[in-house]
Amino acid sequence: MTVNLLDFDAAGLAAWFAQRGEKPFRARQVLRWMHRFGVDDFERMTDVAKSLRAKLAAEAEIRGPAPLRDATAGDGTRKWLLDVGGGNAVETVFIPEANRGTLCVSSQVGCALECSFCSTGKQGFNRNLTTAEIIGQLWHANRMLGAVRQPGVGDSGERVVSNVVLMGMGEPLANFDNVVAALRLMLDDNAYGLSRRRVTVSTAGLVPAMDRLRAEVPVALAVSLHAPTDALRDELVPINRKYPLRELMAACRRYLEDAPRDFITFEYVLLAGVNDGDADARALLALTRDIPCKFNLIPFNPFPGSDYRKPGADRVRRFQEILMNADVVATVRKTRGDDIDAACGQLAGQVRDRSRRQAAQPLVRHEPVAALEESAP
Ligand code: SF4
Repeated sequence: MTVNLLDFDAAGLAAWFAQRGEKPFRARQVLRWMHRFGVDDFERMTDVAKSLRAKLAAEAEIRGPAPLRDATAGDGTRKWLLDVGGGNAVETVFIPEANRGTLCVSSQVGCALECSFCSTGKQGFNRNLTTAEIIGQLWHANRMLGAVRQPGVGDSGERVVSNVVLMGMGEPLANFDNVVAALRLMLDDNAYGLSRRRVTVSTAGLVPAMDRLRAEVPVALAVSLHAPTDALRDELVPINRKYPLRELMAACRRYLEDAPRDFITFEYVLLAGVNDGDADARALLALTRDIPCKFNLIPFNPFPGSDYRKPGADRVRRFQEILMNADVVATVRKTRGDDIDAACGQLAGQVRDRSRRQAAQPLVRHEPVAALEESAP
């Protein structure tokens, strides 16, 4: 089978080259061509020996995701629906802002964690994305946005995609190895050269994997909290039954010892009458009092078949006020890309559920995409 070189991080590519008797610097050259310059044709790698180019073309390929749809909203938000085979598709969303451009990346086809308010969770789980499919989203976005650098041209420091958030479809830490390889490429100076502060992984709270991430590639962390007590979180985020709040908060404190930023972002979807009361806000403050943190509040975005409701603007404001009055930063997520269904709860995709019996539905979203505003400026 032809090897897709997008599947390798720098160490993996060097090992693959070594197996073929090629020097590590050759692997670095090819890495740069693929990721910095967005090249998918070995013939264009002009500083690579012709004989090696021919050898690579015979044994390998550089294959990014195939776009099924490309839509741009009035506010500049751009969304790609990417084919990942077997009737499945995931979405990648680019959100341009004055001082940064954020790419929201998916890590799995569907999600097995079944958070009760999440449309992705309702569709079940199909499979993990490969490293090539995860990094391929950034590779593809850079090519489409015209952001790949030209060979021989210095780095001006300008990047169209300045921030990446793993908050698309799936639980990133449940696909640990492939996600970590993709993260390494995002940070690699021969690839995308993003700082650890500008790459955020969002998790529903897989405690052991949070510790592994901290040890292996401690990027910025967002935690999908959504409830201030175990009783409520058990219901909204069922993984809480395995890793309850006490363990999750302890993992957050440990993570901060190595985190690139001095706070954790907590994502909190506001569900009318469920977790949006004054008492919930105060309980949240108590729960997180010894953890430097920021909150992203996400008014629920209803989707067909969901039982929850969106709280009114006054309720959202009041909840935010209680947190802010305690000197905790709390932002309310802006809705972007409404006219192309890229707003929270509307990110489309297709999942052929292999974990449960549900039929595939063209509707997907990792509810906590919210922390977009919290990415490093
Ligand atoms: S909120 Fe995130 S972790 Fe929970 S089911 Fe949705 S995609 Fe999975």
